[in-house]
Amino acid sequence: MTALYLHIPFCRQKCFYCDFNSSSNLEKKKSYLEALKKEASLYKNQMEDVKISSIYLGGGTPSVLGQEDLEDLFLHIKETFDLGEVQEWTMEVNPESGKDLDFASLKNLGLSRVSMGIQTFHPESLASLGRIHSREDVYTSLKKIRQGGIKNINGDFMFSFPGQTLGNLEEDLKEIGTLGLSHISYYSFIPEEGTFLGDQVLEGTRGAMDESLDRKMEHRIEDQLKVLGYRQYELSNFTKGKPCIHNLAYWRIKNYLGLGLSAHSSLGDYRFFNTGDMEVYLEKLGKSQLPIEEREKISKKDRVLEYIIMGLRLNEGLNVSKIEDRFSLDFEGIFQGALEKNLEAKTLNYQDGAYVLTAYGRDVANQVELDFYRTEFDLS
Ligand code: SF4
Repeated sequence: MTALYLHIPFCRQKCFYCDFNSSSNLEKKKSYLEALKKEASLYKNQMEDVKISSIYLGGGTPSVLGQEDLEDLFLHIKETFDLGEVQEWTMEVNPESGKDLDFASLKNLGLSRVSMGIQTFHPESLASLGRIHSREDVYTSLKKIRQGGIKNINGDFMFSFPGQTLGNLEEDLKEIGTLGLSHISYYSFIPEEGTFLGDQVLEGTRGAMDESLDRKMEHRIEDQLKVLGYRQYELSNFTKGKPCIHNLAYWRIKNYLGLGLSAHSSLGDYRFFNTGDMEVYLEKLGKSQLPIEEREKISKKDRVLEYIIMGLRLNEGLNVSKIEDRFSLDFEGIFQGALEKNLEAKTLNYQDGAYVLTAYGRDVANQVELDFYRTEFDLS
């Protein structure tokens, strides 16, 4: 089984904090979509015997493509890959463009889940983040999505961004309680170099969030979402029903194929990624060549570390027999030092055969990860 990702690198406006490969220049939209479909077709033979487990259209903002182009792309995906066992088909939607789509028609073509970039309801915060949607757009789009028969809806939210107060966060949490979303992703703002807002924070012209307030906000989010009936299953993800099957494929180190600009893939022992340069992407596909920029063979040791780091993000933690079966290794023997240190520091708990981050451990997850990274071992 392989998870399939398609990258749509267009947005109506570039948000001030965003370092994803996306542009507000839609001039190349048609040629990009033709190239993307060509790329999918080039994988058709290779993927002939492979079942697709989930599909995710991300970006960028897939909803800016509009109905006709989306339907054309959906049809091409259906014709190219074996979708007989797809469990989930997600598309990212932004509130300002989602309201123009016919979701019933997209559902007929396979769409089963929508992830909407809401970030916050606070109007000044939306403006300071460079978001162009209004609170009303969120409600209008949600109504359209539900009228189209899509019930599995994620809301993407952000906290700890410059200027946000605990009071603003409380208002967002209160409003989230009225939305009836099945899934919530809540990410902390990261000042990315090269972005308008990120550079301001990194250069000190804009105040960064105080760390203790950041922790306070995160705890408040976890507590309130629990009260609202959401189950946390990953550091930043909460659900009332199913987890996101597509993202679980990344976190559990399953196979995934990424198509489009800058898309990453991991198939078997190999990891590779596409060029992030639109001209190169179009040129390569114009010559029917895959636009892969770099490919590397992953060692067993790197796969084990990747599995541990991703597994720690999940609330189910690192199940000892699963990791030992998958990699044929003595997990507790190799990582004895890291495990004992973190059990003693109360950053890890051992429960039901798995090592799981404690609430304190989630606060210092990066340090826990380092203890595993620094463990010396050889699996060759
Ligand atoms: S809508 Fe999303 S992908 Fe587009 S610029 Fe904003 S954050 Fe980035």
